[in-house]
This record gives sequence, structure tokens and C-alpha cells, in this order.
Amino acid sequence: MSALLERIAAIVGPQALLTADADTAPYAIDWRRRYRGRPLAVVRPASTAEVAAVVRLCAETRTPVVPQGGNTGLVGGATPDASGREVVVSLARMNRIRAIDRENDALTAEAGCTLAAVQAAAREAGRLFPLSLASEGSCQIGGNLSSNAGGTAVLRYGNARELTLGLEVVLPDGAVWDGLRALRKDNTGYDLKQLFLGAEGTLGIITAAVLELFPLPAGRATAIAALDTPAQAVELLGLMKARCGERLTAFELFSDYALALVLKHFPGSAAPFTARHPQYALVELEDTQSEEAARGLAEAALAEALQCGVVRDAVLAASEAQSRALWSLRENMSEAQAAEGKNIKHDVSVPTSRIAAFVAATDAALARAFPGVRMVTFGHLGDGNLHYNAAAPEGVDPERWMANQAAVNRIVHDSVAAFGGSISAEHGLGQAKREEILRYKSPVEMDLMRRVKAALDPLGIMNPGKVI
Ligand code: FAD
Ligand code: ZN
Repeated sequence: MSALLERIAAIVGPQALLTADADTAPYAIDWRRRYRGRPLAVVRPASTAEVAAVVRLCAETRTPVVPQGGNTGLVGGATPDASGREVVVSLARMNRIRAIDRENDALTAEAGCTLAAVQAAAREAGRLFPLSLASEGSCQIGGNLSSNAGGTAVLRYGNARELTLGLEVVLPDGAVWDGLRALRKDNTGYDLKQLFLGAEGTLGIITAAVLELFPLPAGRATAIAALDTPAQAVELLGLMKARCGERLTAFELFSDYALALVLKHFPGSAAPFTARHPQYALVELEDTQSEEAARGLAEAALAEALQCGVVRDAVLAASEAQSRALWSLRENMSEAQAAEGKNIKHDVSVPTSRIAAFVAATDAALARAFPGVRMVTFGHLGDGNLHYNAAAPEGVDPERWMANQAAVNRIVHDSVAAFGGSISAEHGLGQAKREEILRYKSPVEMDLMRRVKAALDPLGIMNPGKVI
């Protein structure tokens, strides 16, 4: 064992240092199995002090560090490169809830807590932590904050960034920044935590965070509406916002083809209507008074939408089980696509007002270039965020279809830019979009990002090769 690894073992204990290929393999590949690396070692520290000591040693020896949470990221951000030089720092053992302050509606969690564990701790304290993703059983709060995760409740509560009051961060030189403030107002200079939120581990390792809590809803209403076009969905969104205000928690859109994939690959699932429709909107309301209040509001708004012809049909879930069944249609979409074979994925946002025009223009441009292309379009319409995925035409082998990736990306991302959008709404840049972003951000903006990186990580050891 090298001198460096011996010194790391002395910090974290030999059990927390993995070097055998069989032990490091799960940390060396991403969730989608698109990126595979070879780390020098995987370190599993148990405390902030241990993380700091390991990073200090890595800085001293110019050893690159790759922070890793639940490893559910979709852009290769947590995957080491193949050089055999990088040390993966897994936060998995730092999984304590440090404190809950009910009166301040705040919870302090270590970075390695799974999102589900944070949600459960909040619930036990009679509060809601609203961040919610399909990967919540395994993603970690440190990873959520580092990727500024979104999910299905952004419409009401915001992204991970908006839910964070304070951070504790181990900086690239091993110093610890204790920014665990539980304040909603603090205008004492630059808001440094914002630098680390969404930085994908390139500026430091988040070791703990103060998170914002909300009242637990007393009742929920889940509904699904059948629509002709994304334009109608945007119209319905406007109507629901106007009638339901902040009770509108989620507004998800999916196409009939996306639904068809779920019905095919999840045999227990059922279509929401007897007839099939081109588009569906999944809508959720939460109310702190009662379920009746939430249902009443949803019912009235949907009745109005039916009456004025914005929707073709609508169903309000009659039970928790029905609500779960509707949500599972949406939540199983990623896995259903994977089961169908590879497709060319995009995670884009445009202003909500321009979504319908964006989809129409981009669908048409892709169909012209690739006749028969099948679009798997679904996502968080309420946030202007679509997972806009292009699957092979019928009869074309998905593996062969992937050869068109660069050409498809160009059409989609140029269209996103033309509509004033972002080529990565939720998942970040990681390795996947590090080059692509250069086309769409100005040299001024890229230069600012590089200057921030150089100021905080002058040795370039913190997650190199990711983001910039
Ligand atoms: P990882 O994958 O381990 O890491 C992600 C990035 O953060 C990497 O760059 C890593 O280096 C860095 N990082 C991790 N921990 C730390 C830390 N403590 N300090 C500094 N840097 C760190 N994402 C969404 O936004 N919305 C969704 O709706 C959504 N749905 C998903 C559904 C499925 C089925 C899957 C598999 C993924 C989904 N994702 C979604 C993507 C992913 O779950 C999120 O990006 C999540 O926040 C990543 O958390 P993680 O702990 O797995 O991070
Ligand atoms: Zn998403």
C-alpha cells in the first residue's frame, strides 16, 4: 500500500478505506452505466474532521478527490476517471440527523443522510421536507444539494437551493467552513452557500446542511387530466395556479407514448382513462386544513377546465392507493424507457410560456431530420422543465440509433437556446455536458465560472473534469 493510502487509513481506519477492485467497483460506475472509472481508492469517512483530514492530505499530495453521495446522478458527476489516481470520498457513513428545531422549522442533517431519511425525520417531528425525487431511497442530501436537485414539488417549494438555510463545507485545502446558520435573513456579505449548491462537488465537499421545513399537509388531492396538446397543458397550469394558489404542489406532463412505455414494462400498471389521449397532466394539491378542502379545490378547478374545453377528460383519485397508482405512472417513466432500450436524453427548461412552441418546433425539426423518431416527452411542466428524449424509429436498433446522438443534441439544444432555455434544467453538467455547455454559455459567463473555481480550488483537485 502506498504511503498516501497508509496515511488515509490512519485517519479513517482500515475498514473505511476500500482498494480492492471488487470493493470499489460500485463506486466506479454511474447509475446509468455510461461512465466507468478506476479510482485509486474509495474512502468512507465518518465525521467532518475525517473528511477535512483526508482532503488536506489529498491537497498536500495533489491527489484528485471525487465526492460521491448516493451515486444516482445522471451526468457522470460522481464517477472517477480511469487514471487510477483519483480518490472517491463517499459520504455514506455521515448519516446522522444532528438537530431538529421545530419552532424555527429547520433540520440539520449530515451529507450522507438519504433523502428518504431526511423526509422521515421531518415527518416524525410533524413537519414536511418537501424535496422529492424518484431516487429518494438512495440519493443523499449532500448529493441533492450539490446537484441542486429539483423533483416534483419545485412548483410550490423550490429546488434544493431554495430549501437550504446553511451549509458546512470542507474546502479543497482541507479547511472547514462552518456556515450552518439557520437564518432566513442574513445580509452580511456574499451568500457563500450558493456557490456550493449546484457546484457538483467541484468547489468543496458538503458535510452537513441546515434544511428548511414546512407544515405537514393534512390532505392531498391527486388528479389526472387528458389533453390534446402541451399548449392546453400550459393553459390548464395557468388556470390551476389562479384557482388553487400555493396549494398547487405538482404539475407534471407526459405524452401518450411515454405512458405506453410504462404500461408495457410495468405490467401491474393501468391506463388512467378508458380512451387514450395525446397528452396527460398529473396534478397535485396539498392543503393544511383537510383532504376535503384539497379535493374540493381540485374538483372545482378541473370542472372549470372541462367546461371551457381546456381538458378532454379528468379524474380525481378517490383513494391513497389510486393516487399512488397515478404517481407511479409518472415515476416509472425513467425505468420504462431504460427497459425499452437506450434513447437520446435531454433535460431542458424553457420559460413556461414558450414550452408549447418549443415542443412543436423541436418535434418538427427532429422529424424532418430523422423520420419516424419517437419522442418520449415528460416532465415538470410547472417548472418549465421537460425530459425530452428521442427514441429510435420503429424497427431501428437502439444501439445503432445512439450513433445519431451528436446530431440530435445539436437540433434540440440549438432549439432550447433559441427559446431562451437551459440545456440542463435538473441533472447538472457533470462529465456529460461539460463540452456541450461551451456552445451555449457566453465566454464571459464561462470565464466567471473558471475564476470562481480557480479562487476556491487553485490546485484543481476537487472533482476535476466535471462542470468546467
Ligand atoms: P451523486 O450521484 O453521488 O453525486 C451527484 C453530484 O454531486 C456529483 O457531481 C458528486 O461529485 C456531487 N456530490 C455528491 N455528494 C456530495 C457532497 N456531499 N459534497 C459535494 N459534492 C457532492 N434529479 C432531479 O433533480 N430531479 C429528479 O426528479 C430526479 N429523478 C431521478 C430519478 C431517478 C430514478 C434517478 C436514478 C435519478 C434522478 N435524479 C433526479 C438524479 C439524481 O437522483 C439527483 O441528481 C440527486 O440529487 C443526486 O444525489 P446523489 O446523492 O445520488 O449524488
Ligand atoms: Zn426530473
